[in-house]
Amino acid sequence: MSYRIEGAMGSWEVVIGLEVHAQVISQSKLFSGASAYFGADPNTQVSLVDAAFPGMLPVLNKECVDQAIRTGLGLNATINLTSRFDRKNYFYADLPQGYQISQFDHPIVGKGKIEIELEDGSIKEIGVTRLHLEQDAGKSIHDLAPKETYIDLNRSGVALMEIVSEPDMRSPEEAGAYLRKLRAILRYLGTCDGNMEEGSMRADVNVSVRKEGEAYRTRCELKNINSIRFVMQAIEVEANRQIEIYEKGGQVDQETRLFDSVKGETRSMRSKENAHDYRYFPDPDLLPLILEQSHVDHLKETLSELPDDKRKRFQAEYGLSRYDANVLIAEQDIADYYEKVAKGRDGRLASNWVSGELFAILNKKGLSIHESPVQAEAMNALLALIMDKTINGKIAKEVFEIMVETGEMPDKIVERKGLKQVTDTGAIDQVILGILSAHADKVEQYKSGKDKLFGFFVGQVMKAMQGKANPAIVNELLNKHLSS
Ligand code: ADP
Ligand code: MG
Repeated sequence: MSYRIEGAMGSWEVVIGLEVHAQVISQSKLFSGASAYFGADPNTQVSLVDAAFPGMLPVLNKECVDQAIRTGLGLNATINLTSRFDRKNYFYADLPQGYQISQFDHPIVGKGKIEIELEDGSIKEIGVTRLHLEQDAGKSIHDLAPKETYIDLNRSGVALMEIVSEPDMRSPEEAGAYLRKLRAILRYLGTCDGNMEEGSMRADVNVSVRKEGEAYRTRCELKNINSIRFVMQAIEVEANRQIEIYEKGGQVDQETRLFDSVKGETRSMRSKENAHDYRYFPDPDLLPLILEQSHVDHLKETLSELPDDKRKRFQAEYGLSRYDANVLIAEQDIADYYEKVAKGRDGRLASNWVSGELFAILNKKGLSIHESPVQAEAMNALLALIMDKTINGKIAKEVFEIMVETGEMPDKIVERKGLKQVTDTGAIDQVILGILSAHADKVEQYKSGKDKLFGFFVGQVMKAMQGKANPAIVNELLNKHLSS
């Protein structure tokens, strides 16, 4: 079922390509030794290179290069053993060099792909065009003084990876799924923290519309959107704007636009920009970047497990459905938590408890998995009690609630509250006989065909035993008595 926007003059398809800027996790900047740490006081992490003092020379940071290679490997992409740094010239107050060092026609990473999964369960491959390394600019601060702009150069020179996709996405949902998947890959690899609110991952969104089967039409680029939800909203707003223009007989101009999430509209920032406007040329201060294949191979061997591989392993190792595995691998910390819970236990039971009871509590209390009131080891111990039939599923939920409140281990709670499951057939039998004689009328009705009453008897027995009876034994014994 594909996404279409119905206009007055028929149905329109939306075409989307994303350019994502991902800040590299590294100690120091791309071409200087200054710290790349986020959140320090303004202008305290600025070397002479970052401030572009005359005569300063850039020195390439090997760790940033390795991070880009790891990311390329995680995107199933070609690693270019030869790449080059170019100067992209433009003037802006927060760019002291007067140019950004970037990679133009020889990026470090070439074509790759990302597999996304949609709500309806379908799977789609989105092409990655390239990944290149570049410097970030400083930051202009406009809201500290009424008539002045302050400049913070802490960010100046921090390494960014620009990851460009093919125009392969066809709906806001696909763009959202792409960004979530890309962010998961970056986080798994430890190459970018993917934190869109802090700006360490930002998306430029290219949107055009067309009639089915047509060639691509002119696109507009929506700059610097900092949440997945806004990306999805912006696409819809922008596609509708373009459709309206076409349906009135107009033409869409290629331009850079800004998405205003408050007003729900996009506004023009500047018209079409071309590569020649930037007067790109190879940076004469830097040699071409030449990599050894053996180095790339080494990084590949030591790469962390990727989300898709973890999902497949969870399906195979723990017997989970693709859907359930996906829920658990979406965040690495949750996957790690789950594996501790599932250790030595039934994988599906563990999945139900983590995605069910635990997520419900975390949602309700607005906590992350790190802040969980129940440790993975305690959850693992709870599952042990269920599996060895010390407690049944219903009591387990009660125990879990107490664990949430007190942080106690489940065995202690079971012991203290005397919640051990009763598996003694004699004891259960006695209670059953009592219930059946107290409800002789219902027994009659049951025997003359009112099958539904079976549940009533189970309920009565459980109630009489404070929920502690083994449900399988209750069922078995009830069956025996009622069919005789
Ligand atoms: P530029 O070099 O001018 O930025 P690119 O060809 O590299 O242009 O494209 C930039 C982004 O725009 C890519 O993510 C690409 O997928 C996307 N894109 C290109 N053409 C279209 C189109 N017609 N509609 C939507 N997105 C497009
Ligand atoms: Mg571009």
